[in-house]
Amino acid sequence: MAYDDSNIFAKILRGEIPCNKVYEDDYALAFHDIRPLAPVHVLVIPKGRYISLDDMCADAEPAFVGGFFRAVAETARVLGVVGSGYRILANNGEHAHQEVLHFHVHVFAGRPLGGMLKAAG
Ligand code: 5GP
Repeated sequence: MAYDDSNIFAKILRGEIPCNKVYEDDYALAFHDIRPLAPVHVLVIPKGRYISLDDMCADAEPAFVGGFFRAVAETARVLGVVGSGYRILANNGEHAHQEVLHFHVHVFAGRPLGGMLKAAG
């Protein structure tokens, strides 16, 4: 599948659509999710044309991949949730219900988040 430059996160990266920014560096942009599922719900997106983790790890330099995940950790620090704890999650592909086809990591925090998934049926 080819990267589609018209996806909503590409538009946010290009500044065509506003976002509520939390953190930014050379590798990533972090901003609040428009439909938060927890008191803190932030998205961290790489500054590159990557659909998924698989795509980013295949095409990006290792330093970029490392820089991106360092930016995820830095985002949690900026949010002040390292002490209380937080969850990171990335939906990749159809079974994970990935809605936006630009790789992103969700950061959830601000309350006890409960268990991860229900037992598989
Ligand atoms: P996915 O299911 O792809 O992992 O999650 C996509 C996320 O992007 C959803 O949580 C959704 O609320 C969020 N989202 C979709 N459109 C926008 C937008 O225009 N701005 C922001 N800030 N978040 C968005």
